[in-house]
Amino acid sequence: MKINESYKKIIVDSGKTMLEEGLTVGTWGNISARDPETGLVYISPSGMDYRAIKTSDIVVLDLDLNVVDGERVPSIEKETHIAVYRARPDVNAVIHTHPLYSTVLGVNGMELPAVSEDFAQIVGDKIVCSVYALPGTKELGENVAVGLGEERNAVLLPNHGTLCTGEDMKTALTVCHVVEKSAHIYILALNIGTPHLISAEDIRAMQDYKKNHYGQR
Ligand code: 13P
Ligand code: ZN
Repeated sequence: MKINESYKKIIVDSGKTMLEEGLTVGTWGNISARDPETGLVYISPSGMDYRAIKTSDIVVLDLDLNVVDGERVPSIEKETHIAVYRARPDVNAVIHTHPLYSTVLGVNGMELPAVSEDFAQIVGDKIVCSVYALPGTKELGENVAVGLGEERNAVLLPNHGTLCTGEDMKTALTVCHVVEKSAHIYILALNIGTPHLISAEDIRAMQDYKKNHYGQR
């Protein structure tokens, strides 16, 4: 099976970004990318410092969880990453983080509605809190895939963290930022009043605009 080294660099670089931008702490969280050409999944190694991870530390898996390339122990959340790729053909990048504000919502078992237009455009109408399962289990993967659903790009993992997806790594990283910013906004807004939510009709209009018209032609 053809190994594409550029995906290993994407994992290394995104790990550093995730840590430097405060989306996770320590060695927690994990990142993967799917090469749409081969279907192979490139995933971060387990428990390694993101600042020290090299391209040679990245592990390559197939969708049956067989190691195709790499010497390291892959992330303990490999079952979850693969469960997401199996459920969502549109997703080619998965980022699991241990951030502050979205975890607060997960601790309370709350959902995060679309409180801002960026969220509505690239994350979905809302994200839900998935059913709890222990880290590193197959059950966590099943619960996360159900919580993510068919169209949303993120899901909360109660008492654990967040999982964000995208058609590519750049999008998935932006989803991580937008989810965390929106969770922060929502928690602040709940503290001083009653947050106004965007109507389902306006959410659909913004998603259509983002998909078909936003940005440079
Ligand atoms: P890994 O270091 O094995 O990826 O595990 C970190 C984590 O966040 C588990 O949920
Ligand atoms: Zn975790």
